[in-house]
Amino acid sequence: MGRGASVTHLYGSFEPLGADGGARIGVRYGDQVLDLAAALEPDLGAEVMGPNLDRLLAARPHLWQCVFDAVAALEPSAEHLHPLDEVRLLMPFTVADYVDFYSSEHHARNLGRILRPGQPELPPNWKHLPVGYHGRAGTVVVSGTDVRRPSGQRRTPDGDVVHGPTTRLDIEAEVGFVVGVPSTLGEAVPLDGFRDHVFGLCLVNDWSARDVQAWEYQPLGPFLGKSFATSVGAWVTPLAALDAAWVAPPPREPALLPYLDDATAPPYGLDLRLEVRLNGHVVATPPFAQMYWTAAQQLAHLTVNGASLRSGDLYASGTVSGSEPGQRGSLIELTWNGTEPITLPDGTVRGFLDDGDEVVITATAPGPGGTRLDLGEVRGRIVASREG
Ligand code: CA
Repeated sequence: MGRGASVTHLYGSFEPLGADGGARIGVRYGDQVLDLAAALEPDLGAEVMGPNLDRLLAARPHLWQCVFDAVAALEPSAEHLHPLDEVRLLMPFTVADYVDFYSSEHHARNLGRILRPGQPELPPNWKHLPVGYHGRAGTVVVSGTDVRRPSGQRRTPDGDVVHGPTTRLDIEAEVGFVVGVPSTLGEAVPLDGFRDHVFGLCLVNDWSARDVQAWEYQPLGPFLGKSFATSVGAWVTPLAALDAAWVAPPPREPALLPYLDDATAPPYGLDLRLEVRLNGHVVATPPFAQMYWTAAQQLAHLTVNGASLRSGDLYASGTVSGSEPGQRGSLIELTWNGTEPITLPDGTVRGFLDDGDEVVITATAPGPGGTRLDLGEVRGRIVASREG
């Protein structure tokens, strides 16, 4: 994309490097970022102005649409555009609660085969509800933040229990959904309430220490093997930009309970195509359209007990893995738990991540007139444990 490119519907937070710093909201224009509040009509700009997207998220969907339409019609002046290499990108919003789902059938089946050989690939609940857990909002970091190799307890192959830097550091390529409008405690959000509450999506890398996770997760699920860092893209794509991307999800069998049954609902699947790069080499191309559970079903499920939503809640899809080996969104699947290491084009071999490795996840979505929308990237580099 060159300078002078048209708007990309990516919203974020940035601060110009140098003297006139100060965090503000922006929209991508090719390899530039537009100072959004300054470029909008004053009344509209005043309603969303702030250091990040928090005020826009908390506004009503009507205002989201007004901003979207205004951005699409803008002819920005040069004074409001900043080259990307002259700004620092910041966390796009304040994460309230963070939930991580487990909604790819291919991922869940692969993990079942790897971790529970000889048993059914899927747990008995898996096709009845979108499995998930509450994660740690305070360690969600913006793309570009280094990820320090975590330490934790693990059990060695000899059965000893030791503490030290993880030896099985992994990625999970995911898509995160960003809640704008809160809901009331005690009220469930139905499937068709999805667009009344969810503003947009961003890319997520849910870093995972597999050895720590394997030892700690019984019987209560993910804890320290996940909570050390979760990276999100610096850019949020509003749902308003995704009109051409909705597709029917895969057929469901057995039939779903009424609060999750989307057979007669609008299609809530999304035809996003992810790419995962390790040290610059594409290692996977996960297709989001194959996800068994949709974001609307995830939202309906996470509120069906009356749990309320807060503006800034983030819920992630779970690892996106497709039916083909090259479509798996984690190294534990790509290398079959390290037993089938992958050789990168530069000759290096990986089972899990080494210090210095950089992972970049990008994605595109169908746009108007056969175009493809750029959904930004989530980038992170592994730095060595302080324990050496
Ligand atoms: Ca995850």
